[in-house]
Amino acid sequence: MQLDSLGPLLDSVSLDAPWSRVESFATYKREHPDDVRRGCDDIVARLKSFGVPVTVHEPTIYLSLPGKASVAGGGKTFRAKPLAMSRPAPQGLTAPLVFAPTAFDPNTDQVITSPVSGDAGVDVRGKLVLAHGFGMSSMAMHFERRGAVGLIAIHPGKNPHWGIASTVWGSPDLRDLPRKPNFVVVSVSHPDGLALIEQANAGGNATVVADLEEGWYPSPVPVVTIPGSEEADKYVLLHGHYDSWDVGVGDNAVGDATMLEIARVLWKHRDKLKRSVRIAWWPGHSTGRYAGSTWFADHFGIDLYENCIAQVNCDSPGCRWATEYIDVAWMSEAEDWAKDVIRHVTGKEAKGERPFQAGDYSFNNIGLSSYFMLLSTMPPELRKEKGYYVVGGCGGNIAWHTEDDTLEIADREILKTDIKIYLAAVAGAANATIAPFDFRRTVAEFGATLEGYQKTAGGAFAFDAARDALGALDTALAKFAAHCARLRDQKASDPRVKRANAAIRRLARLLVPVNFTTGPGFFHDPAESIAPLPDLAPALTIPKARPEMLGFIQVHLTRGQNRLVAALHDAVREVESALS
Ligand SMILES: [Zn+2]
Repeated sequence: MQLDSLGPLLDSVSLDAPWSRVESFATYKREHPDDVRRGCDDIVARLKSFGVPVTVHEPTIYLSLPGKASVAGGGKTFRAKPLAMSRPAPQGLTAPLVFAPTAFDPNTDQVITSPVSGDAGVDVRGKLVLAHGFGMSSMAMHFERRGAVGLIAIHPGKNPHWGIASTVWGSPDLRDLPRKPNFVVVSVSHPDGLALIEQANAGGNATVVADLEEGWYPSPVPVVTIPGSEEADKYVLLHGHYDSWDVGVGDNAVGDATMLEIARVLWKHRDKLKRSVRIAWWPGHSTGRYAGSTWFADHFGIDLYENCIAQVNCDSPGCRWATEYIDVAWMSEAEDWAKDVIRHVTGKEAKGERPFQAGDYSFNNIGLSSYFMLLSTMPPELRKEKGYYVVGGCGGNIAWHTEDDTLEIADREILKTDIKIYLAAVAGAANATIAPFDFRRTVAEFGATLEGYQKTAGGAFAFDAARDALGALDTALAKFAAHCARLRDQKASDPRVKRANAAIRRLARLLVPVNFTTGPGFFHDPAESIAPLPDLAPALTIPKARPEMLGFIQVHLTRGQNRLVAALHDAVREVESALS
């Protein structure tokens, strides 16, 4: 078992260096590009002290830097936070207040894309909308499209959270620009929101003031490459953001420290690495909607396409009370591997889920197999006991994206465990003779997705062609699995091993995009929730579709099915050529 051979690496993990990094990052904000650069300088100095060579790229990326905000109404002024990428209102924007009911449920909803419904009967045109939810991405867009002049998002806790209002992924291109918000969005605390709802019900106006600065900012990207000794051009990418909201200890000083310790340990043991590990720290995650990782995906797009084995995202590990591994992000092909790694390090049985269109998953349109985003989380019973709602990081601590995300949010022992998990997850994948990804899992996932879509579509559309192609791929993959098992004891440089690994990378390039994107390769889909096999998901709308829409849905499904079947046929050819 490849994980057993990682013992010396895992035993080398120490908390000395990472904990002092966490303590140091706890002392200054990393939001404004000047402070972010200081963070980069500290990462680089630490790497140099370990003797690890580092390259610092100097991209210019598009950011939005929130300043002060407030909401005034009924003689009172309430504290607010402007959402990044929303429109500034430095002189104040005054309009009638209206409350719009949303389907937001703080106990279950993911925070990136708060769903909106239930507000259809409310006239929001020309008004400032008050609504429960985080106000991020699609929620803001929803109200902008409905003609509101601004959104006051009522957050579920005593502190409003920072966040970003745009669905544009990274620095906008020409396709993205029309989706860039031209809309004022601020967040307020729950008690302040309730007071404002009363004002709205009384027919009052409010004035929103929001300061933001937006534009292109130089933002350094430090990258370490630990070269493999047998097949150095192939690599696993481990990455996470080093900018943060405020001092951001749980999100993401702990992740930065994790990657530093992994760089130290892997450099020390680099003779044991067969393929390379690349480690990158991103700026512009918080204020640019993943603009740092997106820049890397753009500028190293072809290298990633041809050589990257997998991407592993490191965000918010090692936080207080986060003892469980129950909602870990992984793509289906990586499920067994991710579970093996977590079991090996912790003895625990992990539960996972389809990765959200979030985090620094800026590589779906290239087609990289991916696992982990957030990792450990607090037990749900503890969350309930504390009266916490669901947040997008910090191991479930609601200090996430607030000024309370300070040193007390990090936990030494949990951090040490999570460092080991990340280390095993990347080093093990780089060293595995055959990359540890089983696309029969992906085929099974596609099959289940199709079955659900077929059931809902009924006689209005037939997914037979996709099902047939899926069956053919499953048969080819069974032969491929037996072939790979026979190669297990060969060297990484064996031509048959290289061919098998090339086929595994090609399977990801073909099957990840059809399952996670609707846009073209090398561009970036919006930061909105995306259904599995998204171009076939319109099947779910058939039962409630107006009769005149049915034809259009069928056209879409025909094209979507062609896209999928072509990818599946190509996948069969890739596998068969590796077998021959
Ligand atoms: Zn984060």
